[in-house]
Formats: sequence, structure tokens, C-alpha cells
Amino acid sequence: MGEKYDIAIIGSGPAGLSAAINAKIRNKKIIVFGNKNFSNKLIKAPKINNYLGFYNITGVELKEKFEQHIKSMNIDIKYEKVNNVYAMGEYFTLMMKNETYDAKKVILATGMEFTKPLRGEEEFLGRGVGYCATCDAPLYRNKVVTIIGHNKEAEEEANFVGEVASKVYYVPMYKSEYNINKNIEIVKDMPVEINGKMKVQTLILKDKKIDTDGVFILKDSVAPNQLVPGLEIEDGHIKVNRKMETNIPGCYACGDCTGKPYQYMKAVGEGQVSALNAVNKLDNKM
Ligand code: FAD
Repeated sequence: MGEKYDIAIIGSGPAGLSAAINAKIRNKKIIVFGNKNFSNKLIKAPKINNYLGFYNITGVELKEKFEQHIKSMNIDIKYEKVNNVYAMGEYFTLMMKNETYDAKKVILATGMEFTKPLRGEEEFLGRGVGYCATCDAPLYRNKVVTIIGHNKEAEEEANFVGEVASKVYYVPMYKSEYNINKNIEIVKDMPVEINGKMKVQTLILKDKKIDTDGVFILKDSVAPNQLVPGLEIEDGHIKVNRKMETNIPGCYACGDCTGKPYQYMKAVGEGQVSALNAVNKLDNKM
């Protein structure tokens, strides 16, 4: 088992970073998971007029301000996706592609994923549908695997699976040069439905059908209730109370993932509330 953190923060958008600075100021040992841009929503904002103190700032400029801030406080972000969070009683174990991390408290600041699940995706989850191709690759030795990739990182996973599976189809959901090994077939089409009997058998796309034993859907984020088994969801958002506590003791949530309005200052405020409550719980235990 690796070292244990006080607080693991999942998400590097405004909510996660606000949680991080507040926990760090209170001397907690934290770890933050996210992506290089911090938040794709942040860098896409053309002009922001409702962030106090920064009238008319662009999303990229605000991202740079956030970066300076966290660097000054020696906060690092691990550019990795968390695939699962398991409550182990007194602590949580977070599963990445190749590693695990343990933390006493977890703050979910994962934002809102607007893409709806594919037809059949939830039904076949664990029966041929998965979200981490490298984790499950050994199950697909000499089988046919289809990977629906929403970002460039998915290419690496496809190449890895290509070494064990008999056939890999790669369905890119973005436009780019694809860094895909020659033995992998690129299918430029729109996935519509995953079908099968007991297990996955076919992926139906707009223009064609692929017979496949497994479908991996690789996005930047994982639906919250898939990320944390047993997490209560209400109206499509993580259910929290005013302390930003979820139904799972020790697990907090903040930002867009807890509900509307989807706004920076609401995300930042909730990030702070969740961190301060997590810190209080940790301190009262000592
Ligand atoms: P996000 O910013 O979405 O960040 C979540 C982060 O978590 C992402 O980096 C994601 O990759 C990461 N993540 C998710 N799951 C995992 C996982 N399993 N493992 C590791 N990392 C994970 N709001 C305003 O107030 N004013 C504006 O002017 C404004 N303009 C906008 C313009 C555009 C074009 C868009 C798209 C949004 C705009 N918004 C605006 C809304 C604002 O961007 C969001 O409310 C805000 O980014 C929410 O912050 P968040 O931290 O909750 O989530």
C-alpha cells in the first residue's frame, strides 16, 4: 500500500482547485487529480464577466491565474483519470490505470459530463462494457475489442489492448491525426447502441455494425455513480447537504457535479465548503 493522503480531490476545475488551496492552507496532505488544462470548460470561456475581481477576463487568462496560485502554494496536479473510488471503512482507495492511492477523505469535483450514455451502455456495464481498457485488457486476450475514444489519451489505451486482443476497432469521437498502431482499424462513424444477449455482441453505429466482445468508452470523466459505487444521485447530480457531504461518510462533492447554476463562483464556493468540512472532520478525529 502507498502513502495515505488526508484528502484526495478528484477534478482540477475551479471547484477542485478551490478545495485544494483551502485544504492546503490548513496543512492537510492532499492529492489532486485532473487534466493539463485544469478544465476544458474553463479554457473555452471567451469572456467571463461574473468572476469577482476579474471583470472581462478570458478563460485562458483565468486558468493562468489559477496556475500561478496553485504553483505558489506548491500544489501539484496528477494528470490522471480516477476510474473508481472504493470506501474501505476508515479510508478510500482510488484506482487509476496502473496505480492506487489511499486517502482518508475524498472530494468529488468532477464537473458535469453532458454526453448521454449510449443505448445499452449501462445495461452491459461489466458485461462487455468498460471504462478502463488497460485495466481489463487481460480479459480480452484473443478477442475482439472496440474502443470509443473521446480524447487523444485513448489512443495509447487502444495500442495497449492491440497487443493482446485478436482485433481492435478504434472509433474516434474527435478530429486529429491518430497515433494508432497499424493492426488497429479506425472506424469513423457515430456509435448509436450496444447490443447483445448475456454479454456484448455488437456495436451499432450510424452506418455500420461491428461484431465485438467488448466496448470501452474512454472519456475524460466517469459518471459519478460509476466512479463511486453506492453514491446517491438526485435529478442527474450528486446529492449533497449544506456541508457538501454525500450519502457516503467521508465523501464530499462540489461544483457543477452537485447541480445548477453551472458557474465558476458557485463551484469555487462549494469547493471551499467541502474542503473546510473535510478538514474539520479530520481534525476532530485527532
Ligand atoms: P469543471 O470545470 O468541469 O472541472 C472538472 C474537472 O474534473 C475537469 O478537468 C475533468 O477533466 C476532471 N475530472 C472529471 N472526472 C475525473 C476523473 N474521474 N478523474 C480525474 N479528473 C476528472 N461560468 C461562469 O460563471 N461564467 C462564465 O462566463 C462561464 N462561461 C462559460 C463558457 C463556456 C464555453 C463553458 C463551457 C462554461 C462556462 N461557464 C461559465 C461554466 C463553468 O465553466 C463551470 O461552471 C465550471 O467550470 C465548473 O467547475 P467545476 O470545477 O465544477 O467543473
